[in-house]
Amino acid sequence: MSTQKFATQALHAGHDVQSNGGTRAVPIYQSTAFVFKDSDHAANLFALAEPGNIYTRINNPTNDILEQRLAALDGGIAAVVTASGMAAIATSLLTLLRAGDHIVASSSLYGGTYNLLNVTLPRHGITTTFVDPSDAENFTKATKENTRVFFIESLGNPKLDVLDIKAISQQAKANKVPLIVDNTVATSYLVKPIEHGADIVIHSLTKYVNGNGTAIGGAIVDAGNFDWANGKFPEFTEPSPGYHGLVYTDVLKNASFIAKVRIEGLRDYGSSLSPFNAFQIIQGLETLELRIKQHSKNALELAKWLQEQKEVTWVNYPGLDSSPYKKLADQYLPEGKSGLVTFGVVGGYESAKTIADKTKLFSLLANIGDTKSLIIHPASTTHQQLSDEAQETTGTTKDLIRLSVGLEHIDDLKADLKQAFKIVSETILQNSSN
Ligand SMILES: *Cc1c(COP(=O)(O)O)cnc(C)c1O
Repeated sequence: MSTQKFATQALHAGHDVQSNGGTRAVPIYQSTAFVFKDSDHAANLFALAEPGNIYTRINNPTNDILEQRLAALDGGIAAVVTASGMAAIATSLLTLLRAGDHIVASSSLYGGTYNLLNVTLPRHGITTTFVDPSDAENFTKATKENTRVFFIESLGNPKLDVLDIKAISQQAKANKVPLIVDNTVATSYLVKPIEHGADIVIHSLTKYVNGNGTAIGGAIVDAGNFDWANGKFPEFTEPSPGYHGLVYTDVLKNASFIAKVRIEGLRDYGSSLSPFNAFQIIQGLETLELRIKQHSKNALELAKWLQEQKEVTWVNYPGLDSSPYKKLADQYLPEGKSGLVTFGVVGGYESAKTIADKTKLFSLLANIGDTKSLIIHPASTTHQQLSDEAQETTGTTKDLIRLSVGLEHIDDLKADLKQAFKIVSETILQNSSN
């Protein structure tokens, strides 16, 4: 494994300049398919007897560089990039699980993931028990005979709870199931889940990794540590009818999972990333460290400022002393607590909507991790489809506003919020005098 630091690997890992025509920037290999030398060469590629590109749904040289780079940054053995963060989650779970299997997941999850686990996968016979992740033992308590995976977010979106990855990974190990950690909000600059025992790491590359709001993408990184031959995963130990009788654990050993994601997952579900988007994401990844440090700095300062505003009823940011997650945040995210801040306002649902409408620098949209500041009122938008109860368990109260704090000057961000707060104050005053 390389001894190079994050900033260096983010610029260089996976890109062999000489074998890529001397290119200093990673080129876009915009080609659907790749020419075989002859039929024997083709047969070898399909038989996995030698490495090489076949078809961009399965592999592509631009994507390959991004995959190697992400694996290096996470300390994993390999990665697969996908069309979106949700594609990364769905492809991972569908590669691992079959009808009748069960997931234990943190109740504090991204809305899309919550729906996948709560509504869509049950239609295919895969069910989930959601647990309060603040006590790692809850995962074991919810584990059944057919449980095959634990799923968490390192820094929950939008609850902003910091999870004790190490403690949860110990529960996963005791139950002989892999731990999947969605590391989208924290990014692998702030925390490397594999170092704390995660078996599989998920990223939405759409967010901080790309950072420019120009491309959707996702990634699956395999730590290479899980024992797929432990008796719970016949998918890996019995001959695969979907790949001419291949027994993954015999041939691919500790790379069994990530290999199956590619050669059966990408092949059959088609959740592959466009090389053009891979290129775009590589541009962003080069500066991830610089950006996430500044996002974290701006977010902390803004969170402290919000605490002093009379229209603000509560502020949640893992870097604040008042946060119940401060201790875990300092332990797992010593370099910064990322760029998301949530807060509540006087006047609840209606005021929160007004603020989302009246800010000008903060764009009202459903995304996070952009260089530009973003705002959303989840209860009326991203989490609107969830029941009141589900909104509560995912931490989305009616008055909650989520900010994705960008890289603008902090004074301008404060001024923008201030003018929106003033409108809310005036409305409330008016209503009380009527
Ligand atoms: C956005 C997000 C996803 C989904 O990623 P897409 O690229 O939008 O599909 C998954 N997990 C978390 C935590 C996210 O914020």
